[in-house]
Amino acid sequence: MSTVIRKTCIVCPLGCHLEAELADDGQILLVRGNTCRRGESYMRDELTDPRRTLTTTVRLVGAENDAYLPVKTDGTIPKGRLFEAMKVLSGITVTAPVVRGDVICEDFLGEGVNLVAGKTVEASSCG
Ligand code: SF4
Repeated sequence: MSTVIRKTCIVCPLGCHLEAELADDGQILLVRGNTCRRGESYMRDELTDPRRTLTTTVRLVGAENDAYLPVKTDGTIPKGRLFEAMKVLSGITVTAPVVRGDVICEDFLGEGVNLVAGKTVEASSCG
């Protein structure tokens, strides 16, 4: 007997409705509903090692108008570590100027990805 898992693919805006059929031992027997191969990879990853790119903001000081800086990881981290990541980021403050792509945290959470600035922000002219 097999189990069917259903998920919506979030890789592109088409949002295909995916189904995976699992054997009793958890082995993935087949994936269907995907329009392209990325959807099958997404479903297989979701069932074995779900990962996400983290996109959020951190506190920013020394800028004219911005109090927060958009940041994102330049690769994916395990979905199960997102809460821990947000806790770490709540303790981070960046000082302007910042250039888009600047590394804010190297090897973020030891996951081999960097947290980078998503925006260029000039320093305040008032110091
Ligand atoms: S299966 Fe392919 S086409 Fe469908 S949502 Fe995923 S990436 Fe987009």
